[in-house]
Amino acid sequence: MNKADISSVHKILMEDFISNPAPVIDLMAAQGCSPFQILVATILSARTKDETTSKVIKEKLFPNVKQASDFNRFTLEEIEQMIFPVGFFHQKAKALKQLPVVLEERFGGEIPQTIEELCELPGVGRKTANLVVAVAFKKPAICVDVHVHRINNRLGLVATSTPQETEFTLREILPQKYWCSWNACFVSFGQRRCRPINPHCGDCPIKRFCNYAKSQEKQKACGEK
Ligand code: SF4
Repeated sequence: MNKADISSVHKILMEDFISNPAPVIDLMAAQGCSPFQILVATILSARTKDETTSKVIKEKLFPNVKQASDFNRFTLEEIEQMIFPVGFFHQKAKALKQLPVVLEERFGGEIPQTIEELCELPGVGRKTANLVVAVAFKKPAICVDVHVHRINNRLGLVATSTPQETEFTLREILPQKYWCSWNACFVSFGQRRCRPINPHCGDCPIKRFCNYAKSQEKQKACGEK
């Protein structure tokens, strides 16, 4: 894949995205959830299935916590119970307990809107910060998770070794109009089709753009000679 293919690949993958269940964070944005709710859900969703995140926030967390200062009313153990069984719930509960303190001290109680400032919050790395900027504040940001990193390398659009390197490379080559939706293109596609092991390349809708698929076909052809 090269830069000239970006628009075609984006169009195909957005059609694929729309015809499949939306990831929990995109769904929340569509439902008009607040930046605070999107931030918290994004922290909880790391290394956790969407169904689990969705159940926890709807049934246990958001009925009790409507703004960051509400976390002050609960002990660490109570927050752990509210967010169980999300992955790494001990660490995430600690981060949520600290969240109102850091927001108050550093940002006057408001959710900051830049990647750098969001990264100062407990439990927030570049991936989470980019997603919050893009989804909650609708500002240009590219959230690179393991799926975006892996598939953009397979396609040959980037040749990078870490998600952060992929983010910075994409910032240079991707027109800004695609930044906010680039993550949505690849996440469920990466879970369903372009999986880490044994990707389902056979009838992949973007196969003709993919360097990985081309190299696999070449290897197969050589093996048959
Ligand atoms: S052809 Fe295969 S490796 Fe390439 S994007 Fe599709 S599933 Fe992934």
